[in-house]
Amino acid sequence: MDTLLKTHNKIQFLHPIHGVADKVSSFGSFKGRNFESKSQFKKPHIKFGKGLCVKASSGALLELVPETKKENLDFELPLYNPSKGVVVDLAVVGGGPAGLAVAQQVSEAGLSVCSIDPSPKLIWPNNYGVWVDEFEAMDLLDCLETTWSGAVVYIDDKTTKDLHRPYGRVNRKQLKSKMMQKCITNGVKFHQAKVLKVIHEESKSLLICNDGVTIQAAVVLDATGFSRCLVQYDKQYNPGYQVAYGILAEVEEHPFDVDKMVFMDWRDAHLNNNKELKERNGKIPTFLYAMPFSSQRIFLEETSLVARPGLPMRDIQERMVARLNHLGIKVKSIEEDEHCVIPMGGPLPVLPQRVVGIGGTAGMVHPSTGYMVARTLAAAPIVANAIVQYLGSDRGVRGNDLSAEVWKDLWPIERRRQREFFCFGMDILLKLDLHSTRRFFDAFFNLEPRYWHGFLSSRLFLPELVSFGLALFYHASNTSRLEIMAKGTLPLVNMVNNLLKDKE
Ligand SMILES: Cc1cc2nc3c(=O)[nH]c(=O)nc-3n(C[C@H](O)[C@H](O)[C@H](O)COP(=O)(O)OP(=O)(O)OC[C@H]3O[C@@H](n4cnc5c(N)ncnc54)[C@H](O)[C@@H]3O)c2cc1C
Repeated sequence: MDTLLKTHNKIQFLHPIHGVADKVSSFGSFKGRNFESKSQFKKPHIKFGKGLCVKASSGALLELVPETKKENLDFELPLYNPSKGVVVDLAVVGGGPAGLAVAQQVSEAGLSVCSIDPSPKLIWPNNYGVWVDEFEAMDLLDCLETTWSGAVVYIDDKTTKDLHRPYGRVNRKQLKSKMMQKCITNGVKFHQAKVLKVIHEESKSLLICNDGVTIQAAVVLDATGFSRCLVQYDKQYNPGYQVAYGILAEVEEHPFDVDKMVFMDWRDAHLNNNKELKERNGKIPTFLYAMPFSSQRIFLEETSLVARPGLPMRDIQERMVARLNHLGIKVKSIEEDEHCVIPMGGPLPVLPQRVVGIGGTAGMVHPSTGYMVARTLAAAPIVANAIVQYLGSDRGVRGNDLSAEVWKDLWPIERRRQREFFCFGMDILLKLDLHSTRRFFDAFFNLEPRYWHGFLSSRLFLPELVSFGLALFYHASNTSRLEIMAKGTLPLVNMVNNLLKDKE
């Protein structure tokens, strides 16, 4: 079965990502994107005995995956009334974290907002992890359900890095409830549908929904994540892909310290008895990301940081099973699983364009890490303020001119330069095998915290990023320096070219 993915705003049958088609036939869907529903492929719910020890194949583990639980928030939503034919100030397409954050803030300023999503009450499916300081800065600590005082990185069997930076798991129910509640209080109207297309007139746009309803708005915000529903791209869309498979599981025991989350575990001894897997992992490595909630409840995610094309999901699941076996982790039950595919890097959308964007659709994923939720929530006020400022003023800035101002605020030159540097980082990561990746992160986490914190949280801008690059080079081993020079020269030239081409 082929899966639909959008490229250049046209729907195409997906082949280019390795294994995506494979994956869909075996697992049905990727969460958080425009793929077919998983349920039609699901195995029946299976009752299992205590402490199933997973063997080499991933089949036994996957048998424990429950039917997808679609939990809805218990809200009475004020609905958009299509019969009135009013032109709302802002229509937000997509009710993920990005869309709701802007809807909430624009409505707070007294503007009329309509939020459109096929499942507006559904609790977001993704398991979001963030650095605690990022949420603290936005006064969102109440939306973290578990925090760890630090994190750990296993470079290999001998080297471990202790990261003294608290990490948290987002309470997605609480975050979404909080935003929805504020939207409702501020008068946001909701429309449950999928937007099919947009037609622009001089001072308003018409959104055509799949239920036949047309919504008119002065400004349209595309916040449809990686579906990229309305925002246009004019360059070849060639991202790298972060692919991961995660399970939230009850286990008999696990070897990790419950006070620290495991940010990356690059050890590969679990593959010693499987030459083929070990070779594959040697070329395109995967690591374990784990959130231990207690000695018996843990989120485990085998992750390919970035690859082009993306690694097949089946391959990742096989590696995960081998790792859990080796670590002696016996899975008793699985609460939920996560199929994660995040497009990283690639071109920015056309800047400016009539539809404005935020989040995944607007190129905001960190190209070297795949993280985005904190950066998007921090950017929401910028987009909201721009919309409020121009719509609310008497300066007559409307239509294309208004959108151009919003895009300018979302992607000012310093942010575009920063992204170019992060894409350069991704281009290097794409070329690293397991050993070079280990050397890279060994040097990366030896940097002063302001550098690695700043890099991961998109807080460094070009001059600081140059210092960051030099510091990384300084901390790298001689082998690593040679690798960075050999593998980084072409990406560096590309980056410099792109930086020179991109003017204010
Ligand atoms: C599995 C997974 C795990 C992730 N984990 C992390 C993490 O730990 N930390 C982190 O920082 N980032 C993470 N990310 C990256 C990123 O933060 C998320 O993808 C985030 O959800 C993006 O937010 P968004 O609002 O842009 O899009 P989404 O959350 O994808 O929301 C888009 C919304 O638009 C709706 N929509 C789509 N098409 C239409 C349409 N045509 N009409 C109307 N509505 C539409 C969808 O139904 C959805 O509700 C993860 C991504 C994935 C996929």
